[in-house]
Amino acid sequence: MEDAQLAWGVRTDVGLVRGHNEDAYTLAPPLFAVCDGMGGHEAGEVASAIAAEAIEKNAPDELDDVALGAAIEAANLAIINSAEQGVGKAGMGCTATAVMLVGEKMAVAHVGDSRCYLLRGGTLVRVTHDHSYVEELVDAGEITADEARVHPARSIITRALGSDPELYADHFTLDVEKGDRIILCSDGLNSMVPDDQIEDVAITSPTPQDCANGLVDAALASGGHDNVTVLVIDVSRDVVAESHARQLRKRARNVVLAVLAVALLTMGLWGVLVNSSYFVGSEDGHVAIFKGLKGNILGFDMYELSEFTDVMVNELPSATRNSLETGVVVSGEQEARDTVASYRTQIQAERDKAAEDARAATGATPDSGAVAPASPEIPVSAVAPETPVEAALTPAAQPATPAPEGGAQ
Ligand code: CA
Repeated sequence: MEDAQLAWGVRTDVGLVRGHNEDAYTLAPPLFAVCDGMGGHEAGEVASAIAAEAIEKNAPDELDDVALGAAIEAANLAIINSAEQGVGKAGMGCTATAVMLVGEKMAVAHVGDSRCYLLRGGTLVRVTHDHSYVEELVDAGEITADEARVHPARSIITRALGSDPELYADHFTLDVEKGDRIILCSDGLNSMVPDDQIEDVAITSPTPQDCANGLVDAALASGGHDNVTVLVIDVSRDVVAESHARQLRKRARNVVLAVLAVALLTMGLWGVLVNSSYFVGSEDGHVAIFKGLKGNILGFDMYELSEFTDVMVNELPSATRNSLETGVVVSGEQEARDTVASYRTQIQAERDKAAEDARAATGATPDSGAVAPASPEIPVSAVAPETPVEAALTPAAQPATPAPEGGAQ
């Protein structure tokens, strides 16, 4: 079986020795659990069934190992309450190993000696710690893991559901990735099959169901002394890569949105700027008024022709022509028109000046036309002195003559 992210398989077997199967399991993807009942005389299977149901009922909706641990603790109380109400037997109990897989995370919660293994890259790692007497001996360095598996006190469990209302569950969260294979099992597997053999079967089984079947077969082949339950979950998709891809897509989307927001804001501001700006320039040799900003962005002109005038650029002084080339920025439409008007004035001034220069070149004045033939006057003025000459001569002659005659009067 599988969903978008996970594939799983499960098998439980009474084994070759016991009369009934006290194991139970929860299969409610993404929640999976194995419970191993104890108490004998059918009470163990009552306890494990209550636990499997209570874990599913109390499991969190989201990945949360604390809440998953709390679900096991709720299952513990459910067993105690049931026993008090006469369901099953007083002292009945069970183990519980539960996992929840969401995204690239696996929450684990656990009580007792059922186990959770993780196979990654061909290596099997046990991720839970047995709550058992022999595990304490192993922890203390007194026996090895292999010795624990066959130790006479191996069935003594130091923590289990069904007795202590204050019981707490171990809980933690692990990262998982595509290709990971997770194995939950009751001790009917690991008490019969050493870890390296579990690893071999896990590596060589193509599907989770093949793996569950192969491991139960291995336990039975080794004697099947106990009930055996194996639940195998494969992380069939690259949830980590998909999660990263999702994050990257989300980031990319945010960047695009931010860029768009800035672009729209800029375009808005730009539009306001363009629509409120004017400059005077040239168009087909004529002075013209433009709305916008001189220049272009990505080949798009940032201005439009607002008014075409009859003022010719080539009639303007060269300095003005040059400034028109780059655009004469003005504060608004009115100033643009005033500027054009000043050009008209400049052109008129140029024309007046040109006419003045032309007149200066010919030496003419407004009244000189009538006097032009006045050169004959020159002889007139040249003879003018004749009169004084005569006058001078005359008096000089006069005294010479009458003075002696008239001197007697
Ligand atoms: Ca067992």
